[in-house]
Amino acid sequence: MTQRAAVAALLSGLLLAGCSSSAEEPDELAPPPVSSAAPAESGETAVAGASAAPLTETVEQDLDLALSTPVEDSVYPKVGDPGVDALLYDLHLSWDREARRLTADAIVTFRASRTAPRFQLDLSPALTAGRVSVDGEPVAFARRGKNLVVTAPTTTDERYELTLDYVGRPRAAPAPTTRSDFSTTGFTITDTGEVWTMQEPYGAYTWYPVNDQPSDKALYDITVTAPAPWTAISNGHLTRLVTADDLTTTSWQLTEPASSYLVTLAIGDYAHSSNTAASGLRVDYWTPRGMVVDLNRLQTAAASIDWIESKLGLYPFDSLGLVVTASQSAMETQTTVTLGNNPYVLSPQVIEHELVHQWYGDQVSPADWRDVWLNEGMTMLMQWVYEDEHDIRPLRTTIQDAQAGDQGLRDEYGPPGAYDPRQFGGSNIYYSPALMWNELRLALGDDEFYRIARSWLTAHDGTSVTREQIFDHWEKETGRELSAFFDRWITGRTSPKPGVPQ
Ligand SMILES: [Zn+2]
Repeated sequence: MTQRAAVAALLSGLLLAGCSSSAEEPDELAPPPVSSAAPAESGETAVAGASAAPLTETVEQDLDLALSTPVEDSVYPKVGDPGVDALLYDLHLSWDREARRLTADAIVTFRASRTAPRFQLDLSPALTAGRVSVDGEPVAFARRGKNLVVTAPTTTDERYELTLDYVGRPRAAPAPTTRSDFSTTGFTITDTGEVWTMQEPYGAYTWYPVNDQPSDKALYDITVTAPAPWTAISNGHLTRLVTADDLTTTSWQLTEPASSYLVTLAIGDYAHSSNTAASGLRVDYWTPRGMVVDLNRLQTAAASIDWIESKLGLYPFDSLGLVVTASQSAMETQTTVTLGNNPYVLSPQVIEHELVHQWYGDQVSPADWRDVWLNEGMTMLMQWVYEDEHDIRPLRTTIQDAQAGDQGLRDEYGPPGAYDPRQFGGSNIYYSPALMWNELRLALGDDEFYRIARSWLTAHDGTSVTREQIFDHWEKETGRELSAFFDRWITGRTSPKPGVPQ
């Protein structure tokens, strides 16, 4: 996720979190927008019924890719069930924009990670569950708040198929944060019935039954029916797009495992355009018809991918898109980045930030929310370097400002690796670890620093990890004893002095 408030403050030379709005963004970030109706360089095509829609064949999912080691979250222990290792969410959703009603059925294939008389998933109480069955047999269940408790015995390492239908008027959940750019998380409905979702740190449960904790990565098959010409945009490949009886049915398939907070759903009247990165990767852009979107700025994503690949190695997934929504923020949802439509969020450096997360955050994710700094620290440093190399802001100035503000962030939000749970996504998880990584970059030199940053990703591709694993990796690769260095930066209450032990 972008740190909009604090980045804006940084740009104006102040380190104040949570007090900015788009109106305060510097003018140079807001050139006159062009209409989305104007053709982009690569040509814009209608989504519904257009032959240009980038359809891909459905494949059989390889469930073994989604095997995880689920844990109970240390920051938000009430979300998720470590006894469930979800492998595949197969969701069929129908959106009634007039009634604001979601009618759905879900098939959740999971591995039991323990032997137990029951298990549970997270599902919003705004959604009423109908029939629930396991492996085709109806089972009893209970609703306790957002907990869907299923009375069905499980045996360690056995696989099960939970089927359930549900209906309701979804609503976003309160987010545990004091940030200015979001206060709720999950399924969000606009005044005219469009839908978008951003669901960090949890919020997937506002629209489907889920083990809503980041250690449990899973695959997805999502089919959505919406009133034509509206379409649904989600993660992975678009495999089906059919319009019949005034309804559009859209299917998406994500064949690379994702944590639930990295899943996205946007429903509206979307137009499609695309361009291509130097590697040949096609980048799809989904923009709401009728919303003024600066396509030229949005389409800097392809060049951004080239730049990131030069530092972190090849883009880790086999599809990439960006979807513009009515949100005020930006979110690194896996393979389909979700962006709000305002000049700051659609700036090249914020787009670059969300794209870096495809490596740091999505390809390798935190197993526990105490380690969200693993996502934001490296991504923030990469954003600072990008801004420096693209003449947006000199790195030296950014670092000086961040150093000047580090103690204040630790005082306000806590250390980045031991933050106040009510202040999720504070500036401390961005700037403090970014400064830490920059110290290592200076000590090792760019070549060695990025070599290790890449080898970490390769070694942990598709998994969720802990801070101990990344500390071990850097110590092993550098041959240095770094535990005191890491501890000071990640859990220290006092801002560390510059420098890295030899
Ligand atoms: Zn971020």
